[in-house]
Amino acid sequence: MIDYENLHQLNKPLFDEYKKAFNEVLESGWYILGNKVKEFEQQFAQYCQTKYCVGVANGLDALHLSLRALNFEQGSEVLVPSNTYIATILSIVENKLQPILVEPNLATYNIDPTLIERHITPKTKAILVVHLYGKMCDMDSIMAIAKKYQLKVIEDCAQSHGAQYKGKYSGSFGDYAAHSFYPTKNLGAIGDAGAVTTQDEGLANCIKVLRNYGSEIKYYNEVVGVNSRLDELQAALLLVKLKYMEKITAHKRVLANIYFNNLKSDFILPQLHSDYIDVFHIFNIRHEKRDALKDYLLKNEIKTEIHYPVAPVKQKAMKGIIDNQVTPIAELIHQTTLSLPISYFHPEDTIHKVVEVMNKF
Ligand SMILES: *Cc1c(COP(=O)(O)O)cnc(C)c1O
Repeated sequence: MIDYENLHQLNKPLFDEYKKAFNEVLESGWYILGNKVKEFEQQFAQYCQTKYCVGVANGLDALHLSLRALNFEQGSEVLVPSNTYIATILSIVENKLQPILVEPNLATYNIDPTLIERHITPKTKAILVVHLYGKMCDMDSIMAIAKKYQLKVIEDCAQSHGAQYKGKYSGSFGDYAAHSFYPTKNLGAIGDAGAVTTQDEGLANCIKVLRNYGSEIKYYNEVVGVNSRLDELQAALLLVKLKYMEKITAHKRVLANIYFNNLKSDFILPQLHSDYIDVFHIFNIRHEKRDALKDYLLKNEIKTEIHYPVAPVKQKAMKGIIDNQVTPIAELIHQTTLSLPISYFHPEDTIHKVVEVMNKF
C-alpha cells in the first residue's frame, strides 16, 4: 500500500536529532517560553524574511490572535477565499466578524484578485488571503487593492512555508501572517504549534501580550488575553526540522516534477508560473470522475486525500453565518479535486508507480 502520508516515516530520519533536542529541554528544567522559543522565533523570522515572529499554540490561534490584535469593530467584514480550510473562516467568526467569501481563480486555486473589489463595502476591514496547497497568492494585486481601500492584509501561511512570490517569501507581505506547524504541514512539529510573523514591532508586541494572558509583566494584565504559547519542546523540535526545510522542499519539488512530466492530459494539473515558487504542501489534480478515480487508486493500493470534500458554505457549522453566499467555483473544486501522495518520505519510484496506475484510469 502506498500511503498518502506517514508521520512515522516522515520524521524517522530526524529521530536521533529529535531525541537530543528533547533531552536538552528536559534537562534544562525550563519548559515554557524559554531560549528554544526565542531561538525558533528568531530563526523562523529570518526564514520568512520578516523582522518579527511570535510563537503561539497552533495555526488557528495564530489567525485568531492576528485578527484580535487588529481590533476591528464587531460585525466588520473580512474578505476570505471561498475554498479555504475551515480554520481560516473560524478565526473570523470567533472574533465576531463577518466572513465575506471571494471565489478563487481556477488556475491557481487562490483568491481571485479581479473579484475582490466588488465585495468591498464600508464595513470591509481586511483581506485574509490563503496561500493554498503551497502556492502564493497574487500579492501585487492584493496589496494594491488593500492600499487603495486602506484594508489590512493577513496571510494564512499554514500550507506555504518557504513559498515565494517574485522573490519574496510567504509570510512577509501582510500586516500579520499566520503559520501552522501541525504535524502534516511542510514545517510540521511533533504536536500542535504555530506562529505569527510581522514586519511591525508594535504588532508583534500585541501578539506577545495576547498569547500570555494579556500580560507583559508577570501578574499585571493589560488586556484580556489567552494562553496560547508555543511550547518550548515543540520549539526545540521545530529548530531541528527548520534546518531540513530546503531539503524537504527540494524533494517535494522533484516528486511534483514527476507528476508534471508524466501524467496524461486527462488530469487537470496545477499551473506553474515564473513569478511563483511553489512548495507543494499538497499536489492536487482535478478530474470530473474524482470519486471513481479515488476508488480506483485505492483498489490499486494507492491512498489519496481530498482537500477539501465539503465547501465552507455547505458546512453544517456555517449555517446562518455564510450559507447565504453563493460560491459555485469553490464547490466545483471541492467536487473534483484529488490530492496525490507527495511526502518527503516518498521515494521517486513510488511516485512513478502512482503515475503508471493513474495513466491507466
Ligand atoms: C492547517 C491549517 C490551518 C490551521 O492550523 P492548526 O495548526 O491545525 O490550527 C489554518 N489554515 C489552513 C489553510 C490550514 O491548512
